[in-house]
Amino acid sequence: MLGSGRYGRAVVSAVPARLGAATIRPGRIMDSIDDILGELPLPPYITAEDVTFAVKAITVHAAEQWPDGPRCRNDRAPHPCRLHRWGRRVLIRRGLTEREIETLIAEETARQP
Ligand SMILES: [Zn+2]
Repeated sequence: MLGSGRYGRAVVSAVPARLGAATIRPGRIMDSIDDILGELPLPPYITAEDVTFAVKAITVHAAEQWPDGPRCRNDRAPHPCRLHRWGRRVLIRRGLTEREIETLIAEETARQP
């Protein structure tokens, strides 16, 4: 089902409309969706609730092995996808260490069925 997920198709078809034909570089569209959309903005101040969302985002958007490398198991984007990166940036901005982040992720992962 590579490339035929409902999210993937929606993103691909949305790209030309967002860009306009002049700025599309043929052959690079799939690789550059992240460049085009850019990073998700961080909240101006990271609250405890943001931390909860961030940990959930990281665990839901975990890596899954595909023939061409790790991809997000939620949206099939190359891992780490935008939401995974957003979650990590939120936790780093909150001042958590790499070890604290890994602990939170492990706890959240253990809670999931
Ligand atoms: Zn994802």
